[in-house]
Amino acid sequence: MPSPLTATAAWPGVITHYRDRVQITQSVAPVTLLEGNTPLIPAPALARALGQGKAEFELFLKFEASNPTGSFKDRGMTAAITQAVADGAKAVICASTGNTAASAAAYAARAGLQCVVLVPDGKIAAGKLAGALSYGAQVIAINGNFDDGLRMVREAAERAPIALVNSINPARLQGQKTAAFEVVDALGAAPDWLALPVGNAGNITAYWLGFTEYFNDGITSTRPRVLGAQAAGSAPIVHGRVIEKPETIATAIRIGNPARWNEALLALDESDGEITAVSDAEILAAYRQVARLEGVFCEPSSAAGLAGMAKGVREGWLDLDGQRVVAVLTGHGLKDPDTAIKGAAEPVTIEPRIDALLGLLSLS
Ligand SMILES: *Cc1c(COP(=O)(O)O)cnc(C)c1O
Repeated sequence: MPSPLTATAAWPGVITHYRDRVQITQSVAPVTLLEGNTPLIPAPALARALGQGKAEFELFLKFEASNPTGSFKDRGMTAAITQAVADGAKAVICASTGNTAASAAAYAARAGLQCVVLVPDGKIAAGKLAGALSYGAQVIAINGNFDDGLRMVREAAERAPIALVNSINPARLQGQKTAAFEVVDALGAAPDWLALPVGNAGNITAYWLGFTEYFNDGITSTRPRVLGAQAAGSAPIVHGRVIEKPETIATAIRIGNPARWNEALLALDESDGEITAVSDAEILAAYRQVARLEGVFCEPSSAAGLAGMAKGVREGWLDLDGQRVVAVLTGHGLKDPDTAIKGAAEPVTIEPRIDALLGLLSLS
């Protein structure tokens, strides 16, 4: 009997689609939620706004919010959990600002593994906590930040039979680098610039790994210049020193001592890139702008790369004229409903009468 054709049948997830490139075990079937294959959305109106009359360029948004748990973390987690299963793990652990927790919890649920996540108490967006809890993880809130959590889970994984799935786990990068492959596969070439937020620096490292691999194999003849953006209150790489008490509204990048710091510096150096610090106000402005101009709703951290572009063009050190730019939107706006609602106009309440409604309409 022929198997029924389903809408998702064509895309098998990143491990299977890029099976010759994702360097993890092939001894077990991938633990997958069919992550990856995310949209690369043209954003002409946003490009005009970010160009500020100084630059005309082509902009695409790599919308990683379309992954199964709403962030790019799923790309790495399918690989890390598959490897953990192959290694015989019964439980996994991670520290997280939220999205890694939600992703680990989902993939662990799918694999039948126990999952423990450490999150900073009170500094995790509601949608991320909701995800981690719903997928059945044991969520532990610590009176500390992500950096404290990472230190603790590293030690826990050494002392207890539990696998670490933070992005210091090399399988994570193997999965995450597939985003770079998808960008090149979709455009037929590497873009001139890749803009993205930088927190623990796993993603910038993974993109550079992916672009470099395609470049070395002759699939693309160029690699992009990389524009990294950190939040001003947690910008260790920009300032060249550990930030003891990182602060920002962009909680996904509220990290003071990135685990992939050296790799990020290498990506910036080899790509002739830039890294810049953007204020919370700049992040929020870009976050609202992309939603209103393009109908694309990302979480605040995701807009840091866009804010970095706006800043670079405004200050004159980033020449985007005639360039093709990909900005990575790392996570979904629905992850952080509180920030979305706080900054918006309150809905008007009316009686359920048509005259009350018509009185409010100002249509041209
Ligand atoms: C994890 C995350 C980041 C930061 O990525 P790193 O790999 O830690 O640099 C940025 N945005 C979102 C939405 C994230 O979940």
